[in-house]
Amino acid sequence: MNIAEYLANIGEKKYRITQIEKALYKEFVHNFDEITTLPKDLREKLKQEFPFSSLKIKLEKASKNKQTEKVIFETKDDYQVESVLMRHLTGRITLCVSCQVGCPNKCLFCATGKLGLTRDLKTEEIIDQYLYFARKLKKEGKRINNIVFMGMGEPFLNYENVLHAVEILNNPHKIGLGFRHITISTCGIIPGIRKFMAEGIQVNLAISLHAPNDKLRTELMPINKAYPLIELMETLDKYIKKTSRRIFYEYIMLKGKNDSAKEAQELGKLLQGKLAHVNLIPYNPIDTDDPLQQSEEAEIRKFQKVLQKYGVPSTVRASLGDDIDAACGQLIAKK
Ligand code: SF4
Repeated sequence: MNIAEYLANIGEKKYRITQIEKALYKEFVHNFDEITTLPKDLREKLKQEFPFSSLKIKLEKASKNKQTEKVIFETKDDYQVESVLMRHLTGRITLCVSCQVGCPNKCLFCATGKLGLTRDLKTEEIIDQYLYFARKLKKEGKRINNIVFMGMGEPFLNYENVLHAVEILNNPHKIGLGFRHITISTCGIIPGIRKFMAEGIQVNLAISLHAPNDKLRTELMPINKAYPLIELMETLDKYIKKTSRRIFYEYIMLKGKNDSAKEAQELGKLLQGKLAHVNLIPYNPIDTDDPLQQSEEAEIRKFQKVLQKYGVPSTVRASLGDDIDAACGQLIAKK
């Protein structure tokens, strides 16, 4: 039973829910006692019936330069998930959230993929990641500007809970973050992209691409067998036609694997003329035995130049948080 159902059961008026949502999502209160718009006896009842958050803090770490903070949360059933807060030099603050405990997709370069899937996160477990950091930032007079679903898990394999979380994040009566400040990243789950396209919302779509041809993509991302590149690109063309929205392509730069001039040309041809932006991400080795290595900076720049020739815009992403295993592909939490 959730709080709304409980309040209805005990005969409370509907506006109590509005008061609770305002306190949680706008004022970022730390406990039920701080919801002073509620009568004291109701606060006591809520304290007895519900934990204030669905997540407990297991570990908090900040990078040396304090730009990145990682939190490992523990769920009620003792699983761990991670979120990463990134403070950009521009002053903007981005939160990367997880949507599953583990992930079934087994991408070669991804620490989370090595765990396999344990379970989907519930909507409240996604929102509680946001609320934890929102409360913390409130003390500094700051707020989260962007939220990205790029942590542990594949958002389109937990579609309903992720979209419900997006509704809470966007709803002006709840958190009120603009759709354009929310990004969902998928490894290319075509049925999920189709469903998402039909939602007609302005949330950004990012595709974890990482290879410009099927052979290499299947080697790096086994999900490519189920949803091959040609079908993925056809679906994305339809998405652009319907939404007129630019798609972000994530491309982890792996030394000697996907970073040659050949792959750059293939990628240029694949995305030429499309509404696309490529994020080139220097790889962060998972551990010292990792056979995958980060591309040389010069190779990344050469790769970017080739994309430029094809008129494909790209950015080389600064890697934040690699000293605390919070960089892209490094999120891992074990039971
Ligand atoms: S990169 Fe994303 S889809 Fe692939 S295994 Fe990691 S979390 Fe899953």
